[in-house]
Amino acid sequence: MKTYEKEDIKVVWEQEKCKHAAVCAKGLPSVFKPKEKPWIQTEGASKQEIIDVVSKCPSGALSIKKD
Ligand code: SF4
Repeated sequence: MKTYEKEDIKVVWEQEKCKHAAVCAKGLPSVFKPKEKPWIQTEGASKQEIIDVVSKCPSGALSIKKD
């Protein structure tokens, strides 16, 4: 599991659940960049935009954790 911070939340990514459907990369390409490292760059969009795309991840690999 990896986490990526954005203000007061963390984007959690569980690699073993990821089905590479690319809903995230298509929905918010300024943040989810599968070819780059780190592949999630939270500075690329607002917190709310990130939350919205994370909620659409079909496999549950992406989730939001609040402190
Ligand atoms: S939307 Fe979810 S399952 Fe699809 S590539 Fe992104 S993290 Fe993986």
